[in-house]
Amino acid sequence: MDITLFNTLGREKQIFKPITQGKAGVYTCGPTVYDYQHIGNFRTFMFEDFLKRVLMYNGYEVKHIMNITDVGHLVSDGDEGEDKMEKGSQRTGKTVWEIAEYYTKVFMDDAKLLNILPPEKYTKATEYIKEQVDMIKCLEDKGFIYVTSDGVYFDTSKLNDYGKLARLDIEGLEEGTRIQFSTEKKNKTDFALWKFSPKDTKRQMEWDSPWGKGFPGWHLECSAMSKAELGVTFDIHCGGIDHVPVHHTNEIAQSEACNGLESAHYWMHGAFLEEESGKMSKSKGEFLRVKTLVDKGYSPLDYRYMCLITHYRKRLLFSWDVLDSAKTARTRLKSRVKSLKDNATNFTNDTNSVNKYKEKFLASINDDLNMSEALAVVWDTLKDESISPAAKLEMISEFDKVLGLDLGKAETEIKQDVPAEIMELVNERIEAKKARDFKLADELRDKVKSLGYEIVDIKGGVEVKAVKN
Ligand code: AMP
Ligand code: ZN
Repeated sequence: MDITLFNTLGREKQIFKPITQGKAGVYTCGPTVYDYQHIGNFRTFMFEDFLKRVLMYNGYEVKHIMNITDVGHLVSDGDEGEDKMEKGSQRTGKTVWEIAEYYTKVFMDDAKLLNILPPEKYTKATEYIKEQVDMIKCLEDKGFIYVTSDGVYFDTSKLNDYGKLARLDIEGLEEGTRIQFSTEKKNKTDFALWKFSPKDTKRQMEWDSPWGKGFPGWHLECSAMSKAELGVTFDIHCGGIDHVPVHHTNEIAQSEACNGLESAHYWMHGAFLEEESGKMSKSKGEFLRVKTLVDKGYSPLDYRYMCLITHYRKRLLFSWDVLDSAKTARTRLKSRVKSLKDNATNFTNDTNSVNKYKEKFLASINDDLNMSEALAVVWDTLKDESISPAAKLEMISEFDKVLGLDLGKAETEIKQDVPAEIMELVNERIEAKKARDFKLADELRDKVKSLGYEIVDIKGGVEVKAVKN
């Protein structure tokens, strides 16, 4: 069955045609690690996870690359303002390298709690400086750059189709609105490829380049790293909707100017998670994290369920009521699956009914990731009396490979911020108990205890608590 995806480039749903049969190269813009990621960021990462799981469910071998932006970004979308990493360093007293390492780890732990599959490779911007410098050299050879007192800039007027992704009205762009207009820039939309270090201060992160000591501009890393890992032209590029007018527009400009070929065939964007007061953003200072949800007694997967029921291209307004409904629905779903397990003794496979649901499920997810419709198929499957519990269980376990709701796993109640490595041991113990390997289960419980956490068996699952000294 075909997969259709909404391509921002054409503003329409298009049938996915991979470059290489059976394979999909996917690049997703990753976190900027100067602060925690909020649950809005994770809405985007989850939509990308849905995409990846849908491709895998359809039999694609997915090569997924996600960057970690550990180089300093400037505070504005233009090329002005303070560096976010250096700012984070001043705020916390840690080095920029320590900050990047800390927030990268928290990001990965949170992603795991949300059942987001890790990419085949995380690429750190600081580990691809040579590739970024090479790309500027390539643009220099082709006459796309100019140098000002503060950096090396891309001349957007040299490209006929600059802004095609965002359908930018170049003439109509007002100075001082979205894009800051430095006096030395030749065109309002020109952007920095390389920024020079200030003459009077030493930056914690800076590198030599043919144009002077400094650091790469914030769009360059994705062009250089996607090229290094996926090749010049690859299948799908994703990110949040805010990336359309600046970041992805500039990525396309520099990649296509340098390579002379189309960069990605499909550009997909997730809509924002918003709050009553507007979009959720880090610059506001206060934001909801996965930890905040856990502290309030929710499972991170309740939030995953919440994201599944609103299509990724629709704005989602966060409220505790919506999260409560998602929690109730997910808990009900899990208990229905558990009772299937308890009754899954004889397996009678009604092929017609089973196939009907499987087809409906596939049609939903392949229709530009219509996950809410796919969830409705799961509920319909559960209600159908003509299918045996064992056959239902088998089918729902298959569906859960896409939904990622851990429907078949025993529930683990997370009472506090339990680190991912502890959760891994807890889950291993659950599996050991299932396999009736009680010796290993006891060893794992002791290991968890030695690390400061206690596992308490409760009805239908376990509870994990920090041991008080
Ligand atoms: P950042 O760490 O700021 O680079 O953001 C990581 C990802 O989250 C990017 O793809 C952004 O487009 C996306 N993003 C930022 N804010 C939100 C939000 N409120 N809702 C959904 N996605 C967001
Ligand atoms: Zn990017």
